[in-house]
Amino acid sequence: MLYDKHNIFAKIIEGKVQANKLYEDDKILAIHDINPVAPIHVLVIPKEYYIDYSDFIQKASAHDIKYYFTKINEIIQLLDLLHDGYRLVTNKGSESGQTIFHFHTHIIGGRRISGLAG
Ligand code: AMP
Repeated sequence: MLYDKHNIFAKIIEGKVQANKLYEDDKILAIHDINPVAPIHVLVIPKEYYIDYSDFIQKASAHDIKYYFTKINEIIQLLDLLHDGYRLVTNKGSESGQTIFHFHTHIIGGRRISGLAG
């Protein structure tokens, strides 16, 4: 599968489509999910083009991988979720529920979550 630049997250990164941004720097973007499944539902998106987690881990530098996951933790602190807890989710492939084929991680929190699979 090839990366398709016409996906909505690529357009948000390029500034062509608006999003409710929580955090942005030169490497990553964090936005509030448009269809939240919990009171807090944030998507952390690297700006470089990766299709999914496996693509990211295979292609990104060790520095960028560390940066990405460290930033996720900083955003978790920004959201004040360290004490109560949170769930991290990333989908790979349509079988898993991935609908946007630009790698992203969901931060979900603000309510009690039970069960693993939807
Ligand atoms: P996934 O199904 O893991 O690919 O996650 C895609 C997520 O992106 C879903 O939770 C959608 O609700 C969310 N989403 C789709 N379009 C937008 C948008 N324009 N702004 C924010 N979130 C979006």
